[in-house]
Amino acid sequence: MENVTLITLKCSNCSASLQISDKLDRYICNYCGTEHALLHNSGGFYFRRLEEKLDNLEKITEKGNAELAIKRLRSDLTTRTHQYEVMIKEKDDLMRLLESRRSDAVSTIIVAAVAQAAILTVNFPLQIYSAAQLAVVFTMIYQLSQISKIQTERQKTAEKFRPELERIRDDIDVIEIKIRKKIKLADS
Ligand SMILES: [Zn+2]
Repeated sequence: MENVTLITLKCSNCSASLQISDKLDRYICNYCGTEHALLHNSGGFYFRRLEEKLDNLEKITEKGNAELAIKRLRSDLTTRTHQYEVMIKEKDDLMRLLESRRSDAVSTIIVAAVAQAAILTVNFPLQIYSAAQLAVVFTMIYQLSQISKIQTERQKTAEKFRPELERIRDDIDVIEIKIRKKIKLADS
């Protein structure tokens, strides 16, 4: 059996003088319960608090977790940004379609107005004149009602997309804030 030498070391936490066997590799202070690793170098024996090691380990784990979280968040960000772009495009396409229908209706009204002016310059028999006037008036009324319908549809389309677009926009903001926080954590 090897000879056991007793060495005296101070507890790193409460400074109590501790007599311990040099064969131990761990020692718990019997005054304050702090756990130490008994280490040895050219200067002799010394204590290292195990909690500190744990603290470092926790930091490393935290860093690793932060880096993983950043990856996951960046992937979420890509997905949400893509959803946002797809939805904006869908909305823009619908709005463009409505805009082109509205501009068609306006053109038709202008054509009808020009036709009405032309009819006035020609001396048509009364019946033909009345029928032509009626057609012009009906065309105008119909196109005006179309324009008003299109306007309502434009509002509905904007309202339909707004909440979802806002929700995705908020999500993107939250994800970006989370990424910035995690980057800080990973860099610490
Ligand atoms: Zn102690």
